[in-house]
Amino acid sequence: MPLNSEKTDVLVVGAGPAGCIAAAIVHKNGLKVRVVEKLKFPRFVIGESLLPRVMDHLEETGLLEEIESAGFQKKFGAKFVMGDYVCDFNFADQFSKGWTWTWQVPRAQFDHLLASGLVKKGISVEFETSLTSIHINEDESSMVTVENAQGEKTTIHARYVIDASGYGRALPNLLGLNKESSFDPRKTHFTHFRDPNRPEGVEGNRITAVVHKQNVWIWVIPFSNGNTSVGFVGDPSFFVGFPEDAEARMHAIVATNPFLKERFKDQEMVLSPRTIEGYAISSTKFFDKGYVTVGNATEFLDPIFSSGVTFAMESGSTAAKLVCRKLKGETVDFQTEYVDHMMQGINTFRSYVAAWYNGDLHQIFFSENKTEEIKKQICSVLAGYVWDLSNPFVRKNGQAIKSLAGVLRLNEPAIVYPN
Ligand code: FAD
Repeated sequence: MPLNSEKTDVLVVGAGPAGCIAAAIVHKNGLKVRVVEKLKFPRFVIGESLLPRVMDHLEETGLLEEIESAGFQKKFGAKFVMGDYVCDFNFADQFSKGWTWTWQVPRAQFDHLLASGLVKKGISVEFETSLTSIHINEDESSMVTVENAQGEKTTIHARYVIDASGYGRALPNLLGLNKESSFDPRKTHFTHFRDPNRPEGVEGNRITAVVHKQNVWIWVIPFSNGNTSVGFVGDPSFFVGFPEDAEARMHAIVATNPFLKERFKDQEMVLSPRTIEGYAISSTKFFDKGYVTVGNATEFLDPIFSSGVTFAMESGSTAAKLVCRKLKGETVDFQTEYVDHMMQGINTFRSYVAAWYNGDLHQIFFSENKTEEIKKQICSVLAGYVWDLSNPFVRKNGQAIKSLAGVLRLNEPAIVYPN
């Protein structure tokens, strides 16, 4: 080891939800952890609707109180709308035992609070510091180079690296682990609007997914600060023909939707509208000697069911516990205990995302003939409880959805999409 290198048990790369939960777990297990974060916080990132499963992780790591103090908008369910069809899921009516609510959060503020929570625990978080190279030694420890905003480089000797670099995909890029997603490439255009015309009470604060056309949907996520996140997601061809200017484009698209046009007409955008394309991505490996990737550094599916932060925290927590056990001398099977566990949840959501875009879920959500029991089972998936194998809609995920949609199609008129 070079004389100028610094030592830690675990180096966590990235201070988003995956990195913060991972670092808190390592610290709780009595090992030395250090976090390096490329940007200065608060920083913008998309992903504002949480799932109740997230609350379990916040509670376990002692970060819940930190977030509670912010007064974020509480989220009690999820509503899906298409024209006159409405399907409202209430997390209190679900099959699995778990949290019945969570929050809708501007992520800049939420992630900043998580990272501040780590600092309060005495964990070192270095902002504006990026991982730029890694050399993994024979004994599985690593020599990692990090660089700060002044261009100063430091070598860190880490017994283990947890890569939580999200869309930055630090280790997948350095080690050539990126893999194309099996989903069709989709595009999104989104902003935060001032929202003075929000309906009064519960209705106005409810997160809503609106089916705009068969292959285009809109998220509407009201925040407690009076602003609302609005994003269009769909086939890239939908966006062709709208104005090039980002704000003009957003106003023009909003004007085409009956559910949104009056509420957001001429409203100020407090976030310059952004466009992202082809965001679904996967990796050839989630771990190898000396490292494990978590959160978006592993795989990202699609925004429709707000599963990203849930997977970030679940993977950060699961991987960090295994790393601690390994560093304490236990034999750990990352394939079974980490990858297979994560894939159980990811594959459940993967089948729901596919069923959303092929119309099976529209058929189910907007049918009046689904039973309360089935609705509760689906509700638990939407709450992020996708590891409860006693739920048939988790255990048989894709098959259960396909069969139910098939039966409903035989017995009721086909769904009519807006033009
Ligand atoms: P991030 O939140 O991306 O954090 C990673 C951190 O690593 C960043 O702060 C970054 O600066 C840092 N970093 C990057 N490279 C380096 C480096 N080399 N060195 C050091 N640090 C580095 N999810 C939801 O749960 N709900 C939603 O409603 C939702 N909506 C979405 C809408 C869209 C259009 C998209 C594309 C995604 C959405 N997501 C949503 C997914 C969500 O954005 C991500 O899943 C989530 O942010 C992943 O968290 P993370 O901790 O893995 O990564």
